Amino acid sequence: MSSECVFCKIAKGEIPCAKLYEDREIIAFLDIMPATKRGGHTLVIPKKHYEHVTEMPDELLCKTMSVAKRVACALMKEADGVNILLNNGKAAGQYVKHAHIHVVPRYKDDKIGLAHWESVKYHPGEMEEVQARIKKLLEEGNC
Ligand code: AMP
Ligand code: ZN
Repeated sequence: MSSECVFCKIAKGEIPCAKLYEDREIIAFLDIMPATKRGGHTLVIPKKHYEHVTEMPDELLCKTMSVAKRVACALMKEADGVNILLNNGKAAGQYVKHAHIHVVPRYKDDKIGLAHWESVKYHPGEMEEVQARIKKLLEEGNC
């Protein structure tokens, strides 16, 4: 836990949030600056401080994702789609250094650029090289 961490403070009830769900390990609340004009953008976090989702124990991550799924299911009752996403590390757009899952309701023609990126092509043979490199990283352990 970090005493400066805004999400730790939310988890401990030290600063307010628009809470949607809470249990012993997890809390879900509205993002204070939603991506959508109609709101509903939700954050689901473990109460215990982990900087990155990749540091969370599998069981806790599964429970956190399960809550994100429930929130997404609820949002689907009024939205046309939902993005469930997480930013892991600064280069990936993570600014709050407490692991969190974003659940963002999407509406037809809402023009939010969350799920679109400019695709690139692999050169011949490059995909196999990348596959071998990442398989090695996966198999060397700690993941
Ligand atoms: P990320 O870029 O993945 O780190 O996103 C962090 C999110 O946390 C942003 O969308 C912020 O709007 C949101 N956020 C930061 N502080 C608060 C807060 N006090 N209450 C609710 N959401 C917050
Ligand atoms: Zn924290």
